[in-house]
Amino acid sequence: MTRSKQPVTAAVAPAFPSAEATDMAQLVEDLDGMLTRLRLGAIREQLDALLEEAARRQLNLREALAWLCAAEVASKEQRRLSMAMTIAHFPFVRTLEGFEFEAQPSIDPAKIRDLATCRWVANGDNVVLLGPPGVGKTHLEVALGREAVSRGYTVQFTTAMELLGSLVKGQQQGTLEVRLAQYSKSKLLIVDELGYLPLEPQAGHLFFQLISRRYEQGSVLISSNRPVEEWDEVFGDQVVAAAILDRLLHHSHVVTIRGDSYRLREKRRSGLFRQQTGGTSPPVPTKEG
Ligand code: ADP
Ligand code: MG
Repeated sequence: MTRSKQPVTAAVAPAFPSAEATDMAQLVEDLDGMLTRLRLGAIREQLDALLEEAARRQLNLREALAWLCAAEVASKEQRRLSMAMTIAHFPFVRTLEGFEFEAQPSIDPAKIRDLATCRWVANGDNVVLLGPPGVGKTHLEVALGREAVSRGYTVQFTTAMELLGSLVKGQQQGTLEVRLAQYSKSKLLIVDELGYLPLEPQAGHLFFQLISRRYEQGSVLISSNRPVEEWDEVFGDQVVAAAILDRLLHHSHVVTIRGDSYRLREKRRSGLFRQQTGGTSPPVPTKEG
């Protein structure tokens, strides 16, 4: 049978395999090459299985094409997600599903679920998580960060020590500009553990520069064990602390967590500590512990 001399559109019509090229082995090789060139790696790798499945489901050509494209799109999305998670540099994997809200009654689950929609990230708002050690601040930061990544936002996780250490070093070495730019490029910057360790005297100024740069453009999610009233002590400068808080809190959601450390709670359950009788005194080890 001779092929029609009138392709659909002369300019884009592909060269149909000639009689010689219908040799199956050659066709498979050509197709493989074309799929590689088009970067359709998932289709290429699963082609036999996908075609078999399409035949089993008796898909027509259009349906089969959609089925193949869906496999490629799913694979590309999976890759994007895993790359973005790697780039975000989360210290561990934590999810909202894995967060026991019953264990931390001071947190309003509806508030966290609302934050999980990431509308605040879209708007460039900030979130401040406050509370004592072990109450789930880092857990929530990672979980919310992962939600943001899965919604397509760029996320960068760092600790206050690492971030401010880097900026101080940048200032000393004349690379501050580069480092500020590096911490300004993601849509969401997560800064964990502000206030745990003493900061260098110029750290407050540098942090202010970063916050100003990100202000109303990218979001900051920051956690601290110190209430904001004590941030002048954290930064060692009342004026700088006020300027930082002014920008940080302008469009912000503050979540204050009160209550016991989840870690100690787990230990207490296992009998290592006796139940605390109240106040803020440290837990008492039991004889058996
Ligand atoms: P923080 O950052 O406030 O010091 P973390 O988020 O590091 O506390 O929590 C300490 C450990 O306890 C982590 O492994 C975390 O996943 C777990 N954790 C804390 N709160 C909860 C919770 N409500 N539900 C489940 N795990 C929790
Ligand atoms: Mg933490």
